[in-house]
Amino acid sequence: MDFDIIVIGAGPGGYVAAIKAAQLGKKVCIVEKKHVGGTCLNVGCIPTKVLLKSVETRNEVAQSGKFGITGIDIGGLDIELSVLQERKSSIIKQLVQGVEGLLKKNKVILKSGNAEFIDKKTLKVGDEKITADSIIIAAGSETKSLPVAVDNSMPVYTSTEVLGLKKKPSKMVVIGGGVIGIELAYFLNNIGTDVSIVEFMDRILPPVDAEIAGMVEKQFTEMGIDIHTGAKVTKIEKDGVVFENEGMEQKIKCGAVLMAVGRAPYTDGLNLDAAGVAVERGAVVTDMTMSTNVKGIYAIGDVNGKSMLAHTASMEGLVAVNNICGKYTKMDYGKVPSAIYINPEIASIGLTEDQAKEKYGDIKVGRFPMIGNGKALIEGETRGLVKIITDKSHLEILGAHLYCIRATDMISEISVAMNLECTANELVKMIHPHPTISEAIHEAAHAAEDRPIHF
Ligand code: FAD
Repeated sequence: MDFDIIVIGAGPGGYVAAIKAAQLGKKVCIVEKKHVGGTCLNVGCIPTKVLLKSVETRNEVAQSGKFGITGIDIGGLDIELSVLQERKSSIIKQLVQGVEGLLKKNKVILKSGNAEFIDKKTLKVGDEKITADSIIIAAGSETKSLPVAVDNSMPVYTSTEVLGLKKKPSKMVVIGGGVIGIELAYFLNNIGTDVSIVEFMDRILPPVDAEIAGMVEKQFTEMGIDIHTGAKVTKIEKDGVVFENEGMEQKIKCGAVLMAVGRAPYTDGLNLDAAGVAVERGAVVTDMTMSTNVKGIYAIGDVNGKSMLAHTASMEGLVAVNNICGKYTKMDYGKVPSAIYINPEIASIGLTEDQAKEKYGDIKVGRFPMIGNGKALIEGETRGLVKIITDKSHLEILGAHLYCIRATDMISEISVAMNLECTANELVKMIHPHPTISEAIHEAAHAAEDRPIHF
């Protein structure tokens, strides 16, 4: 064999797996056909957050007067998209070069090109054939599109194209109120685009806790974003989007459309049949050890369609490598945190309130509104709440849902707590520094005991 392990795809799943395997003494090759860093670094997590950071900076400056800062012409505040694009490109470049450097430092061989199976142990990359004992498929995902008639004169963008915008669209319809649609709608609204969201389900952010999704819908409506839920898009015409809502046909006129209806596992060009790898509804089938149906072939990240997040991909990579190296490890999808970077931020882990009620019947919900948190007042951002869901008898933490500033960083505390099977009583005993936003988590734990102190 040429290598112990070949990894296909250098996104956050593939490159993390390759580095860890090399650190554990394996001879590793990683094959990438487009760009190192994959979707996440190049056209996903990182660029969206760069765009959203500019919006937050502009909004903070706009509020500087209330912090006693003078001398700023708030009326003239704007975001120069070309500067934003340059900043985005330079951050991506720095991160991609960083990953390339890490691969090199760990002696992972990087090959450019499409990797295609010839058999269970052999891949073709360009004119070369390479073999390995184990192969990890980390080929990622691609954007999905609705199967509706589209008039070619209407520009229909993917998230990648919106991330590269150099001019502000005047009116855009975002099809899909999921995480990507919501983050980009928030960005577009903040740069001055008139935004409408059309969502098929009966609410935006379907996977998010219903109470928080409802609060976001209210916030977006107050921001001037027009939201249509339970709406089925039937066609895209030259001057607008047509949809059905409660049996009535409606049309929103616009100059551009963002198609944000989700992503699908990407397996084009892999020739999985040659290795006999099973695929179900487009996704490579894996068990909890990340093994496919073929011994020695693993699939991690978006390509297995289980939880399409960068940190899931990375953890699945570590799980696969552990199993290849003889250390039996299983993936736990019940404790994957997720984050949405609007302001206030949203972060969740575990069961939503509705899911917990359905599974356990009687539950406890410890809620703490941010208006009761001193640091939130200091920061000038008191919107939102923290809620912790526990079972009734032991107060074991089943889930947590944060809609507040710093939510995306703070959710890791709950992740640790849940992994240690912590109860709300135990969380109450853990000292949280003052004044911090994290005290809201402490308070929500007190509230789960029915004894909140600051509310
Ligand atoms: P990818 O990152 O897609 O990497 C797969 C790589 O494999 C690609 O580089 C591809 O070129 C390569 N490849 C495919 N086939 C072959 C082949 N045959 N041969 C060689 N190479 C191949 N997730 C988060 O956790 N947080 C976020 O904030 C977030 N924001 C997002 C925003 C947007 C707009 C989008 C689109 C996605 C976002 N995601 C976010 C999702 C995240 O980007 C993905 O979950 C993550 O990139 C998946 O990692 P992966 O390694 O499985 O695949």
